[in-house]
Amino acid sequence: NQTLKLSSNTYNDEPLNKTKGIENQRENATLLMLVRNWELSGALRSMRSLEDRFNKNYQYDWTFLNDVPFDQEFIEATTAMASGRTQYALIPAEDWNRPSWINETLFEEALQLMEEKNILYGGSKSYRNMCRFNSGFFFRQKILDPYDFYFRVEPDVEYFCDFPYDPFKVMRQNNKKYGFVITMYEYEDTIPSLWEAVEEYLEETESADVDMESNAFGFVSNFDFIGKSFGVIDSNSGYNLCHFWTNFEIGDLNFFRSEKYIRFFEYLDSKGGFYYERWGDAPVHSIAASLLLKKDEIIHFDELGYKHMPFGTCPSAYYLRLQQRCLCDSNHPDNIDLNVISCLRRWWKDGSGKYFLKHDS
Ligand code: GDP
Ligand code: MN
Repeated sequence: NQTLKLSSNTYNDEPLNKTKGIENQRENATLLMLVRNWELSGALRSMRSLEDRFNKNYQYDWTFLNDVPFDQEFIEATTAMASGRTQYALIPAEDWNRPSWINETLFEEALQLMEEKNILYGGSKSYRNMCRFNSGFFFRQKILDPYDFYFRVEPDVEYFCDFPYDPFKVMRQNNKKYGFVITMYEYEDTIPSLWEAVEEYLEETESADVDMESNAFGFVSNFDFIGKSFGVIDSNSGYNLCHFWTNFEIGDLNFFRSEKYIRFFEYLDSKGGFYYERWGDAPVHSIAASLLLKKDEIIHFDELGYKHMPFGTCPSAYYLRLQQRCLCDSNHPDNIDLNVISCLRRWWKDGSGKYFLKHDS
């Protein structure tokens, strides 16, 4: 067991990413939070939970991104909460704001229509910026250049169990590029034309970037009789609406930086659906991972308990819950894995390749 316990912040005076001591054990990775100043208390709660369950033993850097400057109070409190180093970056306006080629009239009409239909965040402009940023720009932020992996964290989430491994290490050693804990169906109303765009992308790029033999395309495209019979899926396209819930996400930045991902993103972006509709970064990342990665480059972290309102996941093995000091019950209705809106069955059936985990080098 290579779990490391350090008593103090011995490395606080050193520049980021210089390896020594515990840092030799660490992967080239950062915890990453896009967050607003007023979400400070939620940010601290998430940090406290992740520090307790995982990071205090590793002291990975925390990176915070914002479309406006972080205030002093935010910086001080989050730095105090972190076991590792903290760093803060302002997102350039051109990576965040609505591009000028978006037709304002069409955009305002879309907002109003989606607001009237009571679609979640349907009338929000900033939410759209956030989704487009998380789809196409987070990985291009300069502050992330030195890193290979990121672990996305949001305010007000909770990690229910001690981590039994360093997920970054699991990713690197097993050649995983995308990791998730929760998967479920998307609201189709937010992405009416997304799949059409994906189909056009597939035709126009001649699929040079896509290997249907090895990818997890079946996970997002196969008809799901369970979801359908419970009325959960209401899909009018070839997309079964399954997506990885991106508020928890561990990814290989080099996948997102790759030309094939950028080509995919730019194609979708050119359709304007991030604004004329309300495309989420979750279906975009999920479809990209399912098309562009090999099935077995995607990993479901089965052992990690997690909650982001209104859903959570909890390991199903009783002794594992004891061993990892879990604060959750896998039979609780909050555990989405048991719910008909979960896509985990589909993942087990169509997504997961066979793999054996190494994490104790
Ligand atoms: P939900 O999880 O889909 O309900 O959306 P959230 O409100 O949690 O937003 C997703 C993530 O983006 C969270 O980490 C938020 O803190 C962050 N976020 C959302 N909107 C903004 C914004 O306008 N500015 C900044 N800096 N962060 C945002
Ligand atoms: Mn959230």
